[in-house]
Amino acid sequence: MKLVEGKTGSWEVVIGLEVHAQIISNTKLFSGAPTGFGAEPNAQVSFVDAAFPGMLPVLNRVCVEQAVRTGLGLNAEINLTSVFERKNYFYQDLPAGYQISQYLHPIVGKGQLKIELADGETKMIGITRLHLEQDAGKSLHDQHPNRTYIDLNRAGVALMEIVSEPDIRSPEEAGAYVRKLRSIMRYIGSCDGNMEQGNLRCDVNISVRRPGAELGTRCEIKNVNSVRFVMQSIDYEVQRQIEVIESGGSIAQETRLFDPTLGTTRTMRTKEDAHDYRYFPDPDLLPLRLTEDFVAQQKAKLPELPDQKKERFVKQYNLPSYDADFLTAERELANFYEEAAKDVDGKLAANWVMGDFSAAMNKSGGLDKVQVTAKSLNALVKLIGNGTISGRMAKDVFIDMLETGKDPESIVNEKGMVQVSDTASIEKLIDDVLVQNQDKVAEYRSGKDKLFGFFVGQTMKASQGKANPQLLNELLLKKLQ
Ligand code: ADP
Ligand code: MG
Repeated sequence: MKLVEGKTGSWEVVIGLEVHAQIISNTKLFSGAPTGFGAEPNAQVSFVDAAFPGMLPVLNRVCVEQAVRTGLGLNAEINLTSVFERKNYFYQDLPAGYQISQYLHPIVGKGQLKIELADGETKMIGITRLHLEQDAGKSLHDQHPNRTYIDLNRAGVALMEIVSEPDIRSPEEAGAYVRKLRSIMRYIGSCDGNMEQGNLRCDVNISVRRPGAELGTRCEIKNVNSVRFVMQSIDYEVQRQIEVIESGGSIAQETRLFDPTLGTTRTMRTKEDAHDYRYFPDPDLLPLRLTEDFVAQQKAKLPELPDQKKERFVKQYNLPSYDADFLTAERELANFYEEAAKDVDGKLAANWVMGDFSAAMNKSGGLDKVQVTAKSLNALVKLIGNGTISGRMAKDVFIDMLETGKDPESIVNEKGMVQVSDTASIEKLIDDVLVQNQDKVAEYRSGKDKLFGFFVGQTMKASQGKANPQLLNELLLKKLQ
């Protein structure tokens, strides 16, 4: 167990996350208004979203399908009956005075999510529930010196709130949890996971306790919008809580805000309890009843999910767990890898995708922005595999591929880059190098082993990088003995 040391002994950190994930759907949860990002303020608001008197909500089937498939992706129970309730509170960006949510009877019950940690260990985090709810509008405080504007484009947009058990024990585990949840939803196509646009937000619940003691009082940090901030806010909050308790105080259950520029949290409001919201079943909406058939249909539509894909990659391509994890986090990269690994050494292909290709991808801002296709990377790995070029030469070829979009065969042919694997000509190069460096040869023979690399480098240079490195090593070793 990972513990945090305080002045008076060690502390265990307890974390539970509530994630709000915007559902991918053309229209809102209870209205036909569009949901696209970046529209003019209040351009995507129906009478239902603006809570005009007499308007009635109509449930969007697509959102229900998305929630059910996400629940299945979390190995969770699907509740065939669920109930929409009104969560009442006043806020200027909530025109109805209540949010339609689910409370006692959510659409998805208990599930599980597996996280991978840096040391290669895995851990299961319990999912408490997933429920459907509407988003609120947005208050714009920065448009006018002394007025607040309201944008209702977001009002009524469908969210899934996914609540975890308090099973998370460190910032690292919290980060892994959010990344994995995001990955699963992106595979399923139920949420794009874009945290910058606010399509995935986390409320982070944190408490500390002595190892093995009862749960401590928690604070909830609202609307944290990046994985890095989730981890930073936990780091700060844990230290704060430990200091408060160790200096004789106690933690007040409250809602706090994370300040990304300072890296600190501060009180936002004291925590309201569920009864403050006066939940009650929305009389405008019937209980939602699903059939076993409907659930089975949604299950049939699930793609291969990250855990399954990872397991298959380990077996099929003989990959270490770390590589398989990396390659399956995003579906597009996994598909890219599979094409690049066709009929070649799986590990070698993985090295190229995770190394040079990923670096290029990060630099250019996306897989589809890199000129190198999976097919041409596959061809490059083939050229290495069959000895036509060395790994070193391949690095240069790859740079050319990035710049020109050409396939590796043409680059190799145009530049005459074929690897020299003929013993006699490599021996000739070695002989020249040894003759020119007789002093170093003597040093080497008297025990300075490190010089071997020097001879390799000189011979390689003499071959203009074309010598087969393995052969070069073997021949050089023989000659030096
Ligand atoms: P609410 O709806 O009022 O926010 P919940 O009981 O639904 O409260 O819990 C919300 C989140 O807080 C869950 O993710 C849960 O795992 C977590 N949680 C509950 N108790 C604690 C605690 N003592 N320390 C840390 N997290 C907690
Ligand atoms: Mg909460």
